[in-house]
Amino acid sequence: MDNRMMGQVMPELAKKNTVMIVDDDVLNIAALTQILGSDYTLYAEKDGARAIEQAKELLPDLILLDIIMPGMDGFEVMSRLKDMYETDDIPIVFITGLSDVITEEKGLALGAADYIYKPFSPAIVKLRVRNQLQIVNQMRLINFLSITDALTGLFNRRYFNTRLNYEWQRALRDKGLLSILMIDIDNFKNYNDTYGHLQGDAVLKTIANIIKRNLLRSNDMLARWGGEELAALLPGTNSFGAYVVAERLRTAVKAHIFPCIRPEDMHVTVSIGINCVTPYEYGCLRHFVDEADRALYRAKKAGKDRVEMAEGLS
Ligand code: GH3
Ligand code: MG
Ligand code: MG
Repeated sequence: MDNRMMGQVMPELAKKNTVMIVDDDVLNIAALTQILGSDYTLYAEKDGARAIEQAKELLPDLILLDIIMPGMDGFEVMSRLKDMYETDDIPIVFITGLSDVITEEKGLALGAADYIYKPFSPAIVKLRVRNQLQIVNQMRLINFLSITDALTGLFNRRYFNTRLNYEWQRALRDKGLLSILMIDIDNFKNYNDTYGHLQGDAVLKTIANIIKRNLLRSNDMLARWGGEELAALLPGTNSFGAYVVAERLRTAVKAHIFPCIRPEDMHVTVSIGINCVTPYEYGCLRHFVDEADRALYRAKKAGKDRVEMAEGLS
């Protein structure tokens, strides 16, 4: 799959890849810029220590690294980049005049993705860089697909569970709060039966977008739990806050007008069950989710299009 096609699935991949060139010789930087400048966004650094700082900041997709440099040499730069979690998976290609087997083995053993020898041929530089970035982009796409729900574009259940565990552990450590909203579309079966599954899919997508737009904090997380059910995780949010958010989601969905034949179907509603706990005092993650589900069930029984809190919350 080429970048254009991957970009249709994952818009970020349609952008130019970024490459950082680290070389103490400005002539080499100029030559590589000439070769790669039209295909990629380039950053250049002449000094190893500064390159490490910049790589952490800019997170380039690929680093082209000279070995012999005054101060910190390329091997040292690479092992430091491999030691930091922010930069440890950025592929590094050595560009070097040292073409002996021992040096090459050392670089590959340290984790270099590839080698380019000076004096370099522009065509080989282009191809080796392209090959590495293809691997980077494919890995990104695979990671993206493994955590994304194809219909709604939201996170999928698998990712939700991973984040749920992570946020639970974090709240345990910090003695912080965690809120969860279970959101279910009301009478969706009727909608599907009347308008067909494709129209139903479109409604589901629209509702997912409305809800996503109305979750305002950057660490709020929304996923498709399954079918016509979504789940939102609100770290650090108390029960009052969670209630305010849930009401905002409910009214935003209800306000939307869906094009349809029967006027009574113009508005689709959702029911929401909330739970909010301090994991440190509460203890059981499964119970936490179950109680939100039970609250959702009560919202349905009470007539739908409403928000219910888990037992004991106010
Ligand atoms: P309630 O108000 O009690 O939630 O009623 P409901 O009809 O929404 O719930 P029920 O669980 O009876 O049916 C859920 C329906 O959601 C069944 C199915 O038609 C629909 N649904 C689930 N996933 C999808 C999907 O991916 N696309 C479409 N179009 N419909 C879906
Ligand atoms: Mg439903
Ligand atoms: Mg349901």
